[in-house]
Amino acid sequence: MKIVVCIKQVPDSDKVTIDRATNRLNRAGVPAVMNPFDENALEVALRLRDAVPGSTVTVVSMGPPQAEAVVREAIARGATDGVLVSGREFGGADTWATGYTLALAIKKLGPADLVLFGKQATDGDTAQVGPGIAHHLGLPVLTYAKAVEALPGGKALKVVRATEDGHEEWEVDLPCALTVVKEAGELRIGSLKSKMAAKKAQIPVWGVAELEPDPDLIGLKGSPTRVTKVFAPPVKTNRVRLEGTPAEQAEKLVALLAERHLV
Ligand SMILES: Cc1cc2nc3c(=O)[nH]c(=O)nc-3n(C[C@H](O)[C@H](O)[C@H](O)COP(=O)(O)OP(=O)(O)OC[C@H]3O[C@@H](n4cnc5c(N)ncnc54)[C@H](O)[C@@H]3O)c2cc1C
Repeated sequence: MKIVVCIKQVPDSDKVTIDRATNRLNRAGVPAVMNPFDENALEVALRLRDAVPGSTVTVVSMGPPQAEAVVREAIARGATDGVLVSGREFGGADTWATGYTLALAIKKLGPADLVLFGKQATDGDTAQVGPGIAHHLGLPVLTYAKAVEALPGGKALKVVRATEDGHEEWEVDLPCALTVVKEAGELRIGSLKSKMAAKKAQIPVWGVAELEPDPDLIGLKGSPTRVTKVFAPPVKTNRVRLEGTPAEQAEKLVALLAERHLV
């Protein structure tokens, strides 16, 4: 099975704060990490690779030159190889232009049986890129996969999708695309062999010369959406602290809810 995993480098969200004056993210000095949901997608890929002999796992990331670090990390965790899509021309891309560009890279890798994504990126958070790329590649897509297993013969998958009130079970023929949630499994650490391979790996960097995109469809120029305002939701301060013993607090809570006609 030929598997491609899209991996985004994101700021470590535990360490990002918001500048209340400008409502922008304070990114300075914040370490960049592999998008946490992409770790789960990579683990799904590695389990399938282990289950289906002859499978390969190629990771693709689009970002500035330093995003090479997540490609190398993915190889250290067990991916076969990886590519970085990078170039000034791609800067300012919205989710549509990002999807178009990454789809060109995936096509250039040759037909894939399975293309995997995280559920969403923890910085942009739109969850649009996976389904968008599936559209560009003409692949069916199942979102929120929490368990994935290859059916006998390796030509179809059994996929359990997380839903708001439970789960759905699907069987889907390959080729297809999946977006993956946390429950799919924690990314393995990687063997000594894969860590050594990552150190030596050549990571090709593909820009406009390699991907030959329509110049009107990439970067800011190719992005149909515009961010008009970014803001942090105001912190609500109308909290009430109930004092006393647990029994007294419970009594006060019931009285408060009754006063507001909520019980
Ligand atoms: C108008 C506009 C302008 C923007 N300008 C900029 C800008 O100037 N600079 C900038 O950095 N960002 C910019 N962005 C943000 C940029 O669009 C997003 O970083 C990108 O499209 C991914 O969207 P997301 O983070 O919501 O990913 P999601 O859709 O939430 O990601 C889902 C999954 O898709 C895959 N994926 C997403 N992005 C990548 C990637 N880059 N490489 C590999 N896999 C990926 C991952 O598997 C991820 O888990 C802009 C967005 C808009 C709307």
